[in-house]
Amino acid sequence: MKLLVINTGSSSIKYKLFEMEEKKVMSAGLVEKIGEEQSRIKHQRFLSDGKVEEKTEDLAIKDHRVGLEMVGNLLQDEQLGVIKDPNEIKAVGHRVVHGGSRFSEAVIINAEVKDAIHSLVTLAPLHNPPNLEGIAVAEEVFPQAKQVAVFDTAFHQSMPDYAFLYAIPKKYYQEHRIRVYGMHGTSHQYVAHQAAIHLGVLPHKLNAVSIHLGNGCSMTAIKNGKSVDTSMGLSPLPGLIMGTRSGDIDPAIIFYMGNKLNMSFEEIDRELNKQSGLKGVAGENDMRTIIERVEEGDQEASLALEMYAYRIRKYIGAYLAIAGPLDALIFTAGVGENSTVVREKACQGLEHLGIILNRAKNFQRQKGIQEIQDEVSTVKILVVPTDEELSIAEQTYQLVTSE
Ligand code: AMP
Repeated sequence: MKLLVINTGSSSIKYKLFEMEEKKVMSAGLVEKIGEEQSRIKHQRFLSDGKVEEKTEDLAIKDHRVGLEMVGNLLQDEQLGVIKDPNEIKAVGHRVVHGGSRFSEAVIINAEVKDAIHSLVTLAPLHNPPNLEGIAVAEEVFPQAKQVAVFDTAFHQSMPDYAFLYAIPKKYYQEHRIRVYGMHGTSHQYVAHQAAIHLGVLPHKLNAVSIHLGNGCSMTAIKNGKSVDTSMGLSPLPGLIMGTRSGDIDPAIIFYMGNKLNMSFEEIDRELNKQSGLKGVAGENDMRTIIERVEEGDQEASLALEMYAYRIRKYIGAYLAIAGPLDALIFTAGVGENSTVVREKACQGLEHLGIILNRAKNFQRQKGIQEIQDEVSTVKILVVPTDEELSIAEQTYQLVTSE
């Protein structure tokens, strides 16, 4: 069965086309910087002899719809395409960031599901709208395919009430469902499962802290294989310092911005979601550039990096109290998988908690899962490549084949 996974981010689209029975990725690609003057689309076709044919194009892609239509065309391209007819695609799995408390697992998309995703837009303003756009375009381009939603919040539905409730008047939960939902669930669940297999621990017995550091960043405390706490909340704004999001702040800052600085809610929202985090501190949201600037002696970039790592350390301490004793501390996603500096700084000073990084191992990058702890570390420190698309593909396949 040919199955397409579409992972729409706030300004990007990742896609992968799988041949599920053969466990093969046929094609993959990334549309980046959507809405900016210079966007980029990279499309790859994987050949059976292991070779990869690809093309990258820089051009303006004004929105997700344009980007997704280009993806549809590239998959059918004469030279680099992998299908002749859109009806060859039997299922499309969509990453949907916010599923509220309604969805604790993947579902087949129908009008009612789309309405439910739409009703959650206020909680994930950067993500649910492009996710819905992705679904709309996929329904047009692949009309015969079953469309499936896999929710980023689903894994965290196992959190206990004392962890997911906010200490505000209970009517806000009872009438408005305001609570912690958490995000990146597909990634946290996937890397925890991979770590359990790697360590020879039964997945439902694993105690771990997973640290997903991408453009968005979050951490999850995993006890007996289940999410018991996570750093994002009602929305993807709180917790760790991210590329452009502030992470945890004193909520009174919002009143100050409104009352004293006469900013509208829309302006404050934009400021905290798009102009904060690394970008707010150092004017730059890409961790690679931040690290380059640190190496050149840039003070602002150094401060941003220190703040970023310090916040991770604070959460490690908190989650150790909740999920410990730990089998594993897991680093994943763009920064977590690639940045030796961030991993080193995030583990600095945690030796007394049994978390001891081995510098040499941390610097040796290898494919797949990597152990980077010192021999005397009681906690295994793992780099586990996340594969949200594969996880979405597996969940989608399971759902459409069990119908
Ligand atoms: P993701 O959302 O998982 O695709 O991660 C995107 C983030 O990973 C961006 O902020 C990139 O700067 C960061 N990233 C990718 N490669 C590296 C690297 N070698 N060192 C530091 N950060 C990286």
